[in-house]
Amino acid sequence: MLAAILLSALAMSAIVAVRYLITSGGFAFATRVRQPGLYAGLDPQIRREIAWSLASALIYGIPAGVVAWGWQAQGWTRIYTDVGAYPLWYLPVSVLLYLAAHDSWFYWTHRWMHRPRLFRAAHAVHHASRPPTAWAAMSFHPWEALSGAIVIPALVFLIPIHVAALGCVLTIMTVMGVSNHMGWEMFPRWMVQGPAGRWLITASHHQRHHEQYNCNYGLYFRVWDRLCGTDRGLGEFRKGRR
Ligand SMILES: [Zn+2]
Ligand SMILES: [Zn+2]
Repeated sequence: MLAAILLSALAMSAIVAVRYLITSGGFAFATRVRQPGLYAGLDPQIRREIAWSLASALIYGIPAGVVAWGWQAQGWTRIYTDVGAYPLWYLPVSVLLYLAAHDSWFYWTHRWMHRPRLFRAAHAVHHASRPPTAWAAMSFHPWEALSGAIVIPALVFLIPIHVAALGCVLTIMTVMGVSNHMGWEMFPRWMVQGPAGRWLITASHHQRHHEQYNCNYGLYFRVWDRLCGTDRGLGEFRKGRR
């Protein structure tokens, strides 16, 4: 049994690492096409971002792998596969519930990690990327990686979710984690600066966090930042050679 758990954890770490390499690699390639020269001179930083991110992938895989094993072998978790088990309207609602819960956890742990001692001990790794690139998505100190790694594995015990909706949550998490750091805005201006952008976080919003440190702590939504007075609006991007 122990071997099966270990194997599941290792397999999950490998999946997370490959997912990171494909997604960050894809967006880094898109950056070369859309904003040539944007990452010029950042090679040493990018190497560090990749190293920290791969270490994070190992950490992310452990709780996810243990829970995936428990789901399959022991019937743990509230993940369901029969789409009729809950009303259809619950599918999008469950995705929103997961994103809101993850966002809340992230906002408060992130603010906490900006306290000076914790910042120096852990979160400074993430902010060593100046400016961040598409490779910085999982560039975290192991302590910070651990705080992020437990969120979804804990939520699957609490909030029922269809396996496809969970896939949707993980996809949004991965894509936004990468694109929020890549140094340019991929969403259209009308969206980012329109009513939706007042509540949703994209690269423009997180960029300002990396510029100013003491604002814009959220992950997906601007709700907590707005409620707590830490929202300072959208940031500026440095320009590529285009
Ligand atoms: Zn960041
Ligand atoms: Zn931060």
